[in-house]
Amino acid sequence: MTAFPDPADDAVGEVVELVSTLIRFDTSNTGEPDTTKGEAECARWVAAQLEEAGYETEYVESGAPGRGNVFTRLRGSDPSRGALLIHGHLDVVPAEANDWSVHPFSGAIEDGYVWGRGAVDMKDMVGMMIAVARSLARAGITPPRDLVFAFVADEEAGGKYGAHWLVENRPDLFAGVTEAIGEVGGFSLTVPRRDGGERRLYLIETAEKGLCWMRLRAHGRAGHGSMINDDNAVTTLAEVVARLGRHRFPLVLTEAVAQFLAAVSEETGLTIDVDSPDLEGMIEKLGPMARILNATLRDTATPTMLQAGYKANVIPATAEAVLDCRVLPGRQAAFEAEIDELIGPDVTREWVTNLPPVETTFDGDLVEAMNAALLACDPDARTVPYMLSGGTDAKAFSELGIRCFGFAPLRLPPDLDFSALFHGVDERVPVDALTFGTRVLHHFLTHC
Ligand SMILES: [Zn+2]
Repeated sequence: MTAFPDPADDAVGEVVELVSTLIRFDTSNTGEPDTTKGEAECARWVAAQLEEAGYETEYVESGAPGRGNVFTRLRGSDPSRGALLIHGHLDVVPAEANDWSVHPFSGAIEDGYVWGRGAVDMKDMVGMMIAVARSLARAGITPPRDLVFAFVADEEAGGKYGAHWLVENRPDLFAGVTEAIGEVGGFSLTVPRRDGGERRLYLIETAEKGLCWMRLRAHGRAGHGSMINDDNAVTTLAEVVARLGRHRFPLVLTEAVAQFLAAVSEETGLTIDVDSPDLEGMIEKLGPMARILNATLRDTATPTMLQAGYKANVIPATAEAVLDCRVLPGRQAAFEAEIDELIGPDVTREWVTNLPPVETTFDGDLVEAMNAALLACDPDARTVPYMLSGGTDAKAFSELGIRCFGFAPLRLPPDLDFSALFHGVDERVPVDALTFGTRVLHHFLTHC
């Protein structure tokens, strides 16, 4: 990639093997503490890699045995500046081996990819973090500000036994931290340029929708299934669930989405008319990333679970459903009012989980440093802000007043359906993307 020796070469030389080894730790998070495994072993291995390069580490269990986390800090040259948190989660979602081309915990390095569960979510970034941290220590590099590297448990089940526990119980680990980077951002999206060439946009996550899991409950009159019953809880609930599932919430253009669409329009020459009833259709021209982008235009309330009854000929007294709701910044009160209107008086609702959105602006020295690091490694790069429709550990860290970004840099092949790899079958990361990302991260952390 570069003709002269790059200070990142040392990190680049070991990142692929680090990611492969990380994948071989089966850290499947089932959502149930009893069956979740591997985090402690993986965390201790990460600590050993850091200690080998001269770091002191702290191993912390977050709220239950085996929920392993590792922290280390590299002192910067200017202690008056706030520290930067670089965070990655060690757990992964489970994988069904029969569905895969390779074993999901093999970490196979084949056809230019590292394969396995966690390859993009997010043992890729974890491997890059370890490689760069080791390289900085070996070279005796003092970064401009304190760097706090955090490797945490339980992100895939919401961080109750990970980031949220750490924020509530061990805020000392984040002393002096003002800004953070983690998943899901820094990856490239190739778009056609208006002049015929191509442009690589690097999507920096500056915002996340709020995550609210809502339980609906309908009450009716229990009775025999053979008789007329005009107060059937199953019927009442089903009508409300169908109404919510089909509902389209109003279009609300947040700053991150507006800036993203303006940049795309400028590069591609595509007219993106935000007043068009087919805005989603225009965004679909950008390829599979539209699945995420279109989900950031509106609030969503998606039915995911239904529960009622215990026998075919018994009408139950209650019926329940769970909806996965994702709410835009600033929309919570309006969203709840709209929901109440839709569900009516016969169904009650409660939050199972309610985590507010995260939002920051796309400006300042840290954004400049991301930009410079990407341009140093890809002269055709352009950074753009975007909003993630899902949630990450940034929700927990922002509770400490930390300004959070998604920045886990990867240069991806134009035709790779990147968003489908998250939690997907045959999850894999290009070797080239890893070596590229390691160079970018090294540049960024030495100039942040
Ligand atoms: Zn993740």
